[in-house]
Amino acid sequence: MKKEQIIIIGAGPCGLSAGLALKEKGFDPLVIEKENVAHSIYRYPAHQTFFSSSDKLEIGGYPFPSIERKPKRHEALVYYRTVADRSELRIHSYEKVVKVSPEEQTFLLETVTKTQERKQYRAKYVIVATGYYDHPNMMGIEGEELPHVFHYFKEAHPYYNQNVTVIGGKNSAVDAALALEQAGAHVTVIYRGDRFSEAVKPWILPDFHSLVRRDKITMHFNANVTKITKTHVYFEKEGTSYHIPADFVFAMTGYHPDHSFLQKIGVDMDEETGRPTYDEETMESNVDGLFIAGVIAAGNDANEIFIENGRFHGDKIVQAIIKKERNRDA
Ligand code: FAD
Ligand code: NAP
Repeated sequence: MKKEQIIIIGAGPCGLSAGLALKEKGFDPLVIEKENVAHSIYRYPAHQTFFSSSDKLEIGGYPFPSIERKPKRHEALVYYRTVADRSELRIHSYEKVVKVSPEEQTFLLETVTKTQERKQYRAKYVIVATGYYDHPNMMGIEGEELPHVFHYFKEAHPYYNQNVTVIGGKNSAVDAALALEQAGAHVTVIYRGDRFSEAVKPWILPDFHSLVRRDKITMHFNANVTKITKTHVYFEKEGTSYHIPADFVFAMTGYHPDHSFLQKIGVDMDEETGRPTYDEETMESNVDGLFIAGVIAAGNDANEIFIENGRFHGDKIVQAIIKKERNRDA
């Protein structure tokens, strides 16, 4: 059994940032990550450009140089790796936290490593920064589990000259549709909304609308997918049923945090929004000594917290821990 003062679960940008904020104040937190640093960014589309300029993605005061103002995925991977390295933050990669049990003034954490070794840690404070990208929103329709239906888009090349349906109407859906069209796929986008929301980055829409006008992309608003088969996508639009040929389907329907992970620790959660209960000033949850950092704090809404603002959660947490330590000593 290893004893730690502070354990951070998740080495995404916000978990790392919290670690650096703590280190700056003299703490020596341990970060436990089930894959490797910045794993969610690693899973982004291969050629993803951030909507944020690189200065807004910086953590721990380390400058983020990038060729263009808005960096690409691979530059962000280099950046977060370099920061992890230079800062000498203690990171256990390929170790998954499977259980956190609150005990008297401490937490018992159980982990499993890549080699299936089981480990236990006792920590005074735990920061959960596990993000949402591991859990796609399922539509709950027939055929969603078929092997040609994906919830992540990596690269367009394999879909050249194929009929591809994209489901959803926010950034991932529009980005995927644009990349697929550029690679010569025959793209249809099916979206339940009647127009694109303000969450869609405005600079990507002119290209998209232009492709729709020129019949390069087929767009269906107010449309709900009802079934996917090996060869077709079925949907309903304004009272009429349609089916279109589809060799591949990208269901870009968003992602959500692992609600049960927090609930099992005792963190209360709003049933509808998936938002955990925490104090906005300190990021401490309703479980004494357990903090929330990064996008997980927004629950199911993927358009409220980003790296841009989630990277500052660590500053609040460090102040709260300093205060708690003073109170415990007093
Ligand atoms: P994550 O980056 O998701 O990190 C969570 C980490 O926790 C992961 O590495 C995961 O492996 C690990 N983990 C999960 N469960 C466990 C466990 N049980 N044990 C151990 N480790 C665990 N935001 C911006 O600000 N600007 C942008 O331009 C931008 N562009 C984006 C583009 C795309 C395509 C996407 C999908 C998102 C984009 N975002 C952007 C949002 C951004 O990716 C997220 O805000 C960011 O990754 C959140 O950081 P995080 O540290 O909270 O979570
Ligand atoms: P998202 O913003 O959560 O959007 C999900 C889309 O899927 C929405 O249009 C939603 O409809 C639809 N949807 C959800 N559940 C559905 C269901 N059951 N059936 C049908 N449609 C459903 O997810 P995202 O687009 O993947 O974006 C995730 C995060 O990544 C966001 O923070 C985003 O900003 C970021 N991102 C950034 C970039 C970039 O930097 N360039 C690119 C991609 C993504 P409604 O609109 O009706 O809710």
